[in-house]
Amino acid sequence: MAGEWPTVRKCRGLGMKLVRFGPPGRERPGIWVEEEDGSAAILDVTAVAFDIHEYDSHFFTHWGLERLRGIRDEHPAARIPADGVRLGPPVPPPTNLVCVGLNYASHAAELGLSLPKEPLLFAKAPTAVIGPSDPILLPRAARVDFEVELAIVLSRPCHRVAAEDARNYIAGYTILNDLTDRWKQQGVSQWYLAKSHPGFCPLGPWLVTADELDFPPRVRLSSWLNGETFQHSDTSDMIFPPAEIVSYASFHLRLNAGDIISTGTPAGIGSRRSPAVFLNPGDHLRLEIEGLGVQENRVVADSSVPG
Ligand code: ZN
Repeated sequence: MAGEWPTVRKCRGLGMKLVRFGPPGRERPGIWVEEEDGSAAILDVTAVAFDIHEYDSHFFTHWGLERLRGIRDEHPAARIPADGVRLGPPVPPPTNLVCVGLNYASHAAELGLSLPKEPLLFAKAPTAVIGPSDPILLPRAARVDFEVELAIVLSRPCHRVAAEDARNYIAGYTILNDLTDRWKQQGVSQWYLAKSHPGFCPLGPWLVTADELDFPPRVRLSSWLNGETFQHSDTSDMIFPPAEIVSYASFHLRLNAGDIISTGTPAGIGSRRSPAVFLNPGDHLRLEIEGLGVQENRVVADSSVPG
């Protein structure tokens, strides 16, 4: 059964959608612009601001977002049609890619686990990150699940920050697919390897600046496999809200601007179905979060990677 696809919320004016576009490893920073005729364009940031080469920690800590707001409105000629342009992940590989497990009550329930008393943090390798439409390479012998997640991108170095202050450290949000090899996750006593294969972290399409969403964000999250709805929930089911997660992580880690904290996935994952559903070559995966756009990936076999 194909599910309903939530409509994307309109931009509120001040907010921006940041993208990185071009071939893998050579992406350029851009601003996603929705034209009045319904088409989309990308404003080529480096063409008009020669010193902005990347949405990295230097960018976020040197008034980069504020500068982009002026650039967006002053340079309409620097726009190129977005049609057919490859988007990369909206930020370069972060120094820390932190995830939260079991952060939706519905997901803990489907796993038969009690609610965690503190955020359950784990890491994915930053080298797992790919663009929002790139093919997902499936390792041989892997049993891979997908997880739609709201990811936070930090705007400032973040260490020992109180929950009340955490929103001042958030640059914006994007969609993260926390792909996981369940076979590997359950076979060993850590999650890192199961979560970190190259390509196990599609990210994007946009970094939507924090001012476009409420705080905490109240948005619906959905995923579909081959047109069938798997996950369809909203962030009100979160156990630990973004402010608590950022604060908690910052008391243990020294986080940098541009780092990513993903906030967990709701119920509906394929491995909890009966029979269990895992990704296969040829599958079509679609993830959507209200206001944050859509990821669509084709799954392909990667015979070069051992299972
Ligand atoms: Zn996850």
